Amino acid sequence: MTFLFNSDAERGAIFAKAFSRELPDIPFATDPAAVDPEAVRYLITWTVPEDLSRYSNLEILFSIGAGVDQFRIDAVPPHVQVVRMVEDGIIRMMQEYVTLAVLALHRNLPAYLERQRDENWQAIAPVQAAERRVGVLGLGMLGTAVLDRLMPFGFPLSGWSRSPHEIEGVKCLNGRNGLDALLGSTDILICLLPLTDETRGLLNAQLFARLPAGAALVHVGRGPQLDHQALLQALDSGHLSGAVIDVTDPEPLPAGHSFWRHPKILLTPHIASVTQPETAAKAVIENIKRHRSGLEPFGLVDRGRGY
Ligand code: NAP
Repeated sequence: MTFLFNSDAERGAIFAKAFSRELPDIPFATDPAAVDPEAVRYLITWTVPEDLSRYSNLEILFSIGAGVDQFRIDAVPPHVQVVRMVEDGIIRMMQEYVTLAVLALHRNLPAYLERQRDENWQAIAPVQAAERRVGVLGLGMLGTAVLDRLMPFGFPLSGWSRSPHEIEGVKCLNGRNGLDALLGSTDILICLLPLTDETRGLLNAQLFARLPAGAALVHVGRGPQLDHQALLQALDSGHLSGAVIDVTDPEPLPAGHSFWRHPKILLTPHIASVTQPETAAKAVIENIKRHRSGLEPFGLVDRGRGY
């Protein structure tokens, strides 16, 4: 049985080292052309290879990233388990990024950056954290970790998911009515939803209209969830006060796109959270050990839900 690593060589070297230490009986391959396809039981990749069917004994298809929306899951045979990346590095980086974004919006950083450029030494009346309501769309691995990190600042917190959740110190809502309730009482909205048919285009004009005047957005889910024109309109009309955007559609954002220079937008090139090879290798090795002991891997994707 072989583990095939189909990603960049730098991360591959770190994975190879961890595999030789922890799973020495599983041959580790990085070259699809040189491998016996029938020996491949485990494959890690960012996108599903066109010739996936040659790996006829594949048992687990691992995504090297936290999402699986880039996979054409329908093209993966039903007996193959699809597993997304669940690892400490991704969680920690997302906690850092969202904390940075929420504090930047809470403390009016986009406006102060503009004032600095204008040599304008003028303060904006501060709002206390207890008055700044933060709402998170998605209460999965990342949404819950982000809420946990934001808790000590004293923001009133709420979160939204598909199924009911209970998190101490967080008002948890679910379903369509839950979304309306969350939007109506959120000053900083964070999107940490997976991209599915249900979440595509969710951040649109109707959703922005349901946020209170002066609200702001942190988008760290996936690009196609956001309607760019609707965001620009909401910002330019003054209904929304700012946005921190890490994911767009397309990526990279084309030259001249309005997001690049918009004074109310802080833009980053999809770097909120990146798979860290050391902790990722550890997580994949643990999942293979679980699989070999007959246990379900962490991060197993539910094909029906699409995440
Ligand atoms: P996860 O553990 O699968 O959690 C997803 C959450 O979204 C769950 O709480 C789920 O509800 C909720 N959800 C899904 N569809 C929904 C719907 N239609 N309505 C309401 N709630 C819905 O995912 P995760 O690991 O936290 O990651 C979330 C996403 O973050 C990833 O899919 C990826 O797109 C994005 N991400 C971005 C970056 C970046 O650098 N920008 C990095 C990593 C990940 P239930 O709990 O009820 O199932």
